[in-house]
Amino acid sequence: QSLVVTEDSEASLAAILQHSLITTQEQIHSHFDSILSKKGTKILIWNIRRAKDGKPEVDFETDVSDFRLPEVHNDELKKCLRTFGSPRAKHDVPDIHYSLKAYLSILYLKPRTQIILRGQKIPVKLVSKRLKHIEHDVYKPHFSKERVKVTFGLNPKNKDQYGIMMYHRNRLIKAYEKVGCQLKASGQRAGVGVIGIIECNFLKPAHNKQDFEYTKEYRLTLGALGLKLNDYWREVEEKKAREREFQAVERDENVDKLDAEEGPMWLQCEDCLKWRKVPANYYIVAPESWNCSLNPNLNYSCSLPEEAEDSDELLTPSYHKKHKKQ
Ligand SMILES: [Zn+2]
Repeated sequence: QSLVVTEDSEASLAAILQHSLITTQEQIHSHFDSILSKKGTKILIWNIRRAKDGKPEVDFETDVSDFRLPEVHNDELKKCLRTFGSPRAKHDVPDIHYSLKAYLSILYLKPRTQIILRGQKIPVKLVSKRLKHIEHDVYKPHFSKERVKVTFGLNPKNKDQYGIMMYHRNRLIKAYEKVGCQLKASGQRAGVGVIGIIECNFLKPAHNKQDFEYTKEYRLTLGALGLKLNDYWREVEEKKAREREFQAVERDENVDKLDAEEGPMWLQCEDCLKWRKVPANYYIVAPESWNCSLNPNLNYSCSLPEEAEDSDELLTPSYHKKHKKQ
């Protein structure tokens, strides 16, 4: 077992052994060996800065499987979001702003990797399948030939975290961007709890990948997403009203049909990293580790190609819009 030798490898190795927490070649090998799969990247972080009170700038204690921003930062962040964020000041700070684990779990629209943080696998789920009452719409920007799928749904966990999740080439750029009726500061709760998901490959991300360049195309996109979100919101409200009527007749208030409907569960194979569909009720909770051989649809193996999620859904919105915009 030896390291690859290149022109500058000797100098690089010397620098690593002298200036990093790794002091021997054996340690390098053992770090490589600790990577479970055939290939991968391991990132070591050390020399964490400490604040005046002696506490590290990253909180490792609150959750032993996470990197979190300490409370102080969190308070500052809240203030910051209140000032510049949504006019509705009430909502919580989304966990992705202070938890690396939470951020990594939604960083990719369709994860093609596995990320292990502090020895624990980041639970991966398809972002667009985590929602309740999912519907699709189609965005056709007039400045591009693309037809782009927009997924809307309700945040099943925390209603106060909502807005559009904007991806670019599979990577999250902007999260919880408020659009349409969500921007109204009035007491109405219009659009609260609605999450929209879109992959905006036709927009240009800013250099730090935390925002899009503020172009005309970007503003047009947000405007169009606002109208679509309003459509979706009306649809959901109507459906809820129908359910309530139905329940009044049935006298069965415990059944929330809207929450009960669920599509198939999508799971990622640990070996081939492809995503597979299993029937909705096959697992109560998504298993922590899973591979193609466990697929209840027999004869599944890693060599089978991944099933397309939405080839025909892409063509038309999944619901009938009665309220046409003027
Ligand atoms: Zn597989």
